[in-house]
Amino acid sequence: MNIPVKQASASTISCSNCKACCCRLEVLVISDTGVPEEFIKIDQYGGETMKRLNDGWCAALDRETFMCTIYENRPWICREFEMGSYECIDERMAFLS
Ligand code: SF4
Ligand code: SF4
Repeated sequence: MNIPVKQASASTISCSNCKACCCRLEVLVISDTGVPEEFIKIDQYGGETMKRLNDGWCAALDRETFMCTIYENRPWICREFEMGSYECIDERMAFLS
């Protein structure tokens, strides 16, 4: 069950009670970590971002499990995104509450 973030203390914030909220953000692909091409969108300036589908989530996210299907090859930004950080809490508030 997802815990509404307003009732959740920092210790209850976990990816396991989230719905991959951070995987709805724009993710720039700024270094080569081996992201498969089919998940990359190239903008008009040649910049690379993770493709997102109409439901808002990254194309590489498993919609059943909310797990990353390319975990070993995920972009650097995904590796750096910290659970419990301000950005994480902001995304949870925006999407789960
Ligand atoms: S890092 Fe934060 S926003 Fe991303 S899945 Fe985990 S709890 Fe959710
Ligand atoms: S590559 Fe994986 S971790 Fe990064 S946004 Fe997509 S599904 Fe989430």
